[in-house]
Amino acid sequence: MNTFDFDLFVIGGGSGGVRAARMAAQRGARVALAEVLGTEGLGGTCVNVGCIPKKLYSYAAHYAESAHEAHGYGWEGSAPTLNWTTLKTNRSTEITRLNGVYGNLLRGSGVTVFNAFAALQGGHTIGLATLNADGSPGHSQVTARHILVATGGTPHVPHFAGREHVVTSDDMFDLPDFPQRLVVVGGGYIACEFASIFNGLGARVTQLYRGEQVLRGFDDEVRHFLAAEMTKAGVDLRLNAGVLAINRQPDGLHVKLEDGNTLVADTVLYATGRVPNVNGLGLEAAGVAQGAQGAIVVNAQYQTNVPHIYAVGDVTARVQLTPVALGEAMVVVDQLFGPAAGKPPRQMAYDCIPTAVFTHPNVGTVGLSEAQAREQFAHVTVFRSEFRSLKHTLSGSTERTLMKLLVDTATDRVVGLHMVGAEAGEIVQGFAVAMKAGVTKTVFDSTLGIHPTAAEEFVTMRDPVKPA
Ligand code: FAD
Ligand code: NDP
Repeated sequence: MNTFDFDLFVIGGGSGGVRAARMAAQRGARVALAEVLGTEGLGGTCVNVGCIPKKLYSYAAHYAESAHEAHGYGWEGSAPTLNWTTLKTNRSTEITRLNGVYGNLLRGSGVTVFNAFAALQGGHTIGLATLNADGSPGHSQVTARHILVATGGTPHVPHFAGREHVVTSDDMFDLPDFPQRLVVVGGGYIACEFASIFNGLGARVTQLYRGEQVLRGFDDEVRHFLAAEMTKAGVDLRLNAGVLAINRQPDGLHVKLEDGNTLVADTVLYATGRVPNVNGLGLEAAGVAQGAQGAIVVNAQYQTNVPHIYAVGDVTARVQLTPVALGEAMVVVDQLFGPAAGKPPRQMAYDCIPTAVFTHPNVGTVGLSEAQAREQFAHVTVFRSEFRSLKHTLSGSTERTLMKLLVDTATDRVVGLHMVGAEAGEIVQGFAVAMKAGVTKTVFDSTLGIHPTAAEEFVTMRDPVKPA
């Protein structure tokens, strides 16, 4: 007998939540999902204010490069100019289409979708706060045997004088006016991507990073190479730089820096990390253990200390990437409702996660940085290639490409693969499969290249730059 309204209740309609709800329903479970932003929020951060609109704007910025470079290939005429309103409108139309696709996928799988803010109310009860047709608040409750929290994260802006004048990545896609003068604070994924993209779209961009080099945690050579390429492309990247205060003046936002200088900007973007979205979720009342910044603490099966409550994705503040949230969701579904027919239950491995930073040029990376490899292995052989791609022999662009392989000398296994260059994300995805399969350098050497491509360089690096 079913004593609960649902077998699974998912809080949050983003990457992790939608995947878990759909897959659980397809396995025959009675599933509901609540998304506080309603149909417009389905797809979560990735679809609405993350991966997808960011990549669309990156494509937009690449067109500017292409238009400029086309002259070397004989194309004549002045470069087209950006109509910011058209870009925003077309992006918005596409995102709305995707929201609809997510809604249809959920409903088509038999998931009950609530347009509501959901909160844990103790035991197996979930409270749903909605708006009635007349605008008055409505409240209801449902019960579920299992609850999955997939509420994602939200941008974090530190406290300082003038904080109210800054925007976050959530705001960047729909700025009323294109920011001709943009200051970006931060040195992580979002700061580097947005600095690159808006520089490409035509803004004058100053990026301020508090540390020695951007993209902390990435391979050091990749970090330095990318910083040099971004600078060459026009980003005014200032390292060891911080903001003291911001105030609004008639000519723009005055950004007072720690070094005594002042920048004047139309927009100041703070991309200083994201924190778990846990406000009002009722975690304390439900007794769910939380870690730093409120992150939900889970075990290897994504189960919290309250056995029927699970959590996946950014709300657990581990690896904040869409494919990770999707993978974690699948582990939960397999565990609660059984794996797909004929398949073993899925497991997540965090040691070989491929990732790309959609800067101009892209960074693509999988496996260990050189520093990490040297910590783990007695001897590491380093292969490296740096070149100007064939495309740029005529384009006039001075952009260069970096490729790097790290090999555990004892086993010949490739333990790190890095690229800075055009389409690095696309290229590294394929190599990630080989890395997952434990590929050796010998196998790289015996693989034929596809000529002429940039990617073939990965299988033609013969001589180590740093022998073990
Ligand atoms: P989310 O996708 O954030 O979904 C959480 C959902 O829960 C939201 O829709 C929210 O409205 C809803 N919600 C919150 N609280 C409640 C509540 N109480 N009740 C009901 N609903 C609630 N990752 C990549 O892999 N590649 C990229 O290129 C990439 N680019 C990014 C660019 C930007 C600018 C940002 C910000 C992120 C990017 N990411 C990227 C990261 C990726 O978007 C996240 O890792 C991913 O979306 C996390 O999925 P999630 O399911 O944990 O949460
Ligand atoms: P990150 O954690 O990647 O970077 C945050 C940056 O802000 C770091 O450079 C950090 O410096 C700096 N910072 C933190 N606090 C302060 C402060 N108080 N003052 C000044 N600087 C500060 O976060 P993001 O916001 O860039 O992105 C969040 C996550 O979203 C990423 O980690 C990634 O997982 C995901 N994402 C993925 C993308 C992709 O896959 N392409 C694209 C965009 C986001 P320090 O290094 O010194 O700590």
